[in-house]
Amino acid sequence: MSLLLKDGCIITCDEAGSVIKQGAIGIKEGLIDYLGTYREDLDEKYNRVIDVKGKAIMPGFVNAHNHGAMTMFRNYADDLKLMDWLFNKIFPLEDKLTAEGAYWGSSLAMLEMIKGGTTAYCDMYMFMDKTAEAVMQSGMKASLGRGLQGESGEGMDYRISEALELYKVFHKSGNGRIRVNLAPHSVYTCSPAYLEKVAKTAEEIGASVQIHLSETGDEVRNCVEKYKMSPVKLIDKAGLLNERTIAAHCVAVDDEDMEILKTRKVNVVHNPSSNMKLASGAAPIKAMADMGINIALGTDGASSNNNLDMLEEMRTATYLQKVFLKDPTAIPVDQVLAMATVNGARALGFNNTGEIREGMAADLIIINTEKPWYYPKYNTKSAIVYSGNSTDVECVIIGGRIIMEKGEILTLDEEKILYEVQRIAEKLSS
Ligand SMILES: [Zn+2]
Repeated sequence: MSLLLKDGCIITCDEAGSVIKQGAIGIKEGLIDYLGTYREDLDEKYNRVIDVKGKAIMPGFVNAHNHGAMTMFRNYADDLKLMDWLFNKIFPLEDKLTAEGAYWGSSLAMLEMIKGGTTAYCDMYMFMDKTAEAVMQSGMKASLGRGLQGESGEGMDYRISEALELYKVFHKSGNGRIRVNLAPHSVYTCSPAYLEKVAKTAEEIGASVQIHLSETGDEVRNCVEKYKMSPVKLIDKAGLLNERTIAAHCVAVDDEDMEILKTRKVNVVHNPSSNMKLASGAAPIKAMADMGINIALGTDGASSNNNLDMLEEMRTATYLQKVFLKDPTAIPVDQVLAMATVNGARALGFNNTGEIREGMAADLIIINTEKPWYYPKYNTKSAIVYSGNSTDVECVIIGGRIIMEKGEILTLDEEKILYEVQRIAEKLSS
């Protein structure tokens, strides 16, 4: 099927930050085959034409750090310190989570992400074969990693075996919609020998690696006390840092750490809402971006955010840097738009998405800007970042396929997902 989106305001998220007014996007076989000003003769070249007058089209958001099934624990335990929250509340509840719970939790995450305009995301969790099933149904793109933790040795390697099995079955499946990464959880849940083993395995199969890195000052202090070096140095020593590495948080990093991240071409994922909610601090995002480090954006799991709203995350990211640096020029509109789209795509290894350009995958969202908070229309990009709501997203297209139209998701059964999630949540918390 071919599709023409006509007469909209196109925010390309290309390097120049180009905007095309009264623009058109032609889509054939999942790819963008026309980008430019709208002309009437284009109509007859496509099977279906959607008039997007008064609306904005931009690349779908890429949520580069998330734990999808943790939507199941949303609003279960709030207002606690990271380690207290994690070890006393979340880990015990996770012990009760079944494959079925992970499937419905992941489905809920996808429902929410699609509604908010996210077309690709990165996930680290367990029961990832169930998450992969949900990704397949939803039509989204995802990079999935089975969370790895433990000491190296007998009995602990089963998680690595599961990760390899996931890689074998799902990597590049769904026409390349799914990628599989290796996901050591952090330096405080994995021993150095275990981290080395993961690094070696990733190298052997050429997989990406994602990890929580220097999320809090406590994590860094404990690591220095135990291993006499920072988490960044520790995982660099283990061989985990390279251009395929996705490092979430990087809040408590010093100049030497940042230099290592830059040299190794690591992708850093900023999660401002989670960092603020858990009082982890403000990551030096502007400093790292100025050094040339690729900075993507993520929501983190819904139990530490508590939503998966990338539009809100963009606004939070730019506000947090401004207040942190006392500099209103920090992380301007174009930069935060790139963080939420093309930088994330690059981090996840989806090289043909994240910006609107001929030849790129048609992973697009249509935002209804015919709302009071977009008027007057001086600057649509600013309006989206600073005044927009994710509920203004009315259409989502992934690989040329319409996944959501007029706010209705065509690939998932919303009512059933909400019913099942509530049923399982009541069992989990009883
Ligand atoms: Zn996380």
